[in-house]
Parts: sequence; structure tokens; C-alpha cells
Amino acid sequence: MDTFSNRFEGKVAFVTGAGSGIGRATALRFAQEGADVAVVGLVDGDNAETARQIQALGRRALPIVCDVTDSDAVAAALAATVDAFGGLDIAFNNAGIEQRPTPLAEISEDLWAKAIYVNLRGVFVCMRHQIPLLLQRGGGAIVNTASGAGVKGFAGGGAYGAAKHGVIGLTRCAALDYAASNIRINSICPGIIDTEMMDRFTGDSESGRATVIAQEPVGRMGRPEEIAAAVAFLCSADAAFAIGHALVIDGGQTI
Ligand code: NAD
Repeated sequence: MDTFSNRFEGKVAFVTGAGSGIGRATALRFAQEGADVAVVGLVDGDNAETARQIQALGRRALPIVCDVTDSDAVAAALAATVDAFGGLDIAFNNAGIEQRPTPLAEISEDLWAKAIYVNLRGVFVCMRHQIPLLLQRGGGAIVNTASGAGVKGFAGGGAYGAAKHGVIGLTRCAALDYAASNIRINSICPGIIDTEMMDRFTGDSESGRATVIAQEPVGRMGRPEEIAAAVAFLCSADAAFAIGHALVIDGGQTI
């Protein structure tokens, strides 16, 4: 059985896209290390299941249905978090959607808008409401989920890739804005991770999985817990000197 330190004892974490995949694994990791967690996502039942698993670890969880593109809903979710737990210390802005591979000229304006709206604007909206709360607290940490597609081009991935490159740029600029205020803002760039998103991307077929695994020098997909561990590092005092970094955890995919 894994043993965990208590780097987040007494801390409050806010995790978006926490009803599944990387978000759920990271919400659990924060709880395993002592945090109370706001479990934020689109699907009530998925949020509730993550919250149940956190409570089973002996930590408090607040499941909140919230669309990260809805500024008022994000503000309300953060207010509910502060009401329940007394403040905010950590935010993991992770909610995102994939894009079906499509050559650029065939990407519809709707597809483009949705990919940018959720994957990039959602991160902006969340940070915009989180930063004042972290300033009130005297500091904190934010990690935003970018992707290997934020550091490398992938054919057919124009909208998703633009959004994820954007997340890294947004993170770097915001990191500089608040470095002197004791708020550390970094991004995480996962490789191919075995989640529901990857199941949808591969069609959950043997051949689909084999095709994406072939991109991974390590010869397998990553596990959500392997990303959670890196996010926890970035949010912890162990990463006290990490500012505006885009941490690539990808089995060698983009090297
Ligand atoms: P996932 O589909 O399991 O998780 C995404 C979560 O975000 C879901 O719970 C979904 O309901 C939620 N979500 C989507 N739109 C939302 C919205 N508007 N408001 C609130 N919640 C919303 O997939 P995952 O792989 O865990 O993805 C998590 C993040 O990691 C995403 O940003 C994704 O782009 C990124 N990522 C994933 C991989 C991978 O290989 N799985 C690789 C690189 C980056």
C-alpha cells in the first residue's frame, strides 16, 4: 500500500474536471496528503463519487456542479468552497475536452470555438476568480492542465493544440504577475494518459490503444496517478522555486 506525506494538511484545494481521470486522481492525491477538496465538474454523479472516495480517506469534500466556462458559476463555486472550508490555498484547473483529429481547413468554427472556450478560456476564468482569494490568504499555488499538445504540434490537432499552447502562455504571464505575491502558477503537460478522454480518442479499441501507445517511448500509457503526483509536487513547498514552469510528464512522447 502507498504511503503519503501530509504536505497539504490544513489546506483547501479546488479541482476542476474532478469527476474523472486526471482530475479525480489529483483530488484524491490532495486528500491523501491532507487537504480538503472542492470537487468541481459537469456531472453530478461523477463529482459525488470522487467526493465519496475523498471522504473515505477521512477528508472533507465538497462536490460542485459547475461549467468552467460560466464565470458566474465559477465565482459561486469558489464562494461555496470558502464558505465550507474557510479559504483557498490550491487550485488545479484541469477541466478540458479533446478534439477529433481534423485537418485545419476542415475544423469548423464551432469546433474551434468550443476547444478554445473550454480548454483555454475556462482556465482564464478560473484563475481570474481564484487569484483574489489566494491573495487574501497570503499566497498559494495554481496548476493548469496543458498537454504534450501544448509543447509540440500534432497533425489534425489545430484547435486543441492552440488552446493548450495558450494555457502555457497564459500560465507564464500570470505567474509573473503574481510571483512576488507568493502565488506560484505552473502548468502540467501530460502525455498519453489512460482516462475516459483517451478511451473516447482511441475508440477504446485494441488497435486505437496500440496506435497511441506507439507514440510513447516508454511503451505504455501513463496512469492518472502519475500526473497527480507531479501536480502535487508543483503545489507543494517542494516546488517553492518553480514559477511559470510547464512540467512535461509524458513517458518521453515529446522529446
Ligand atoms: P476526462 O475526460 O476524464 O476528464 C475531463 C473532465 O473535465 C471530465 O470530468 C469532464 O466532465 C470535465 N469537463 C469538461 N468540460 C468541462 C467544463 N466545461 N466545465 C467543467 N468540467 C468540464 O479526461 P482527462 O484525460 O482526465 O483530462 C483532464 C485534462 O487533461 C484535460 O484538460 C485534458 O485536455 C488534459 N490532458 C489529457 C491527456 C490524456 O492523455 N488523457 C493528455 C494531455 C492532457
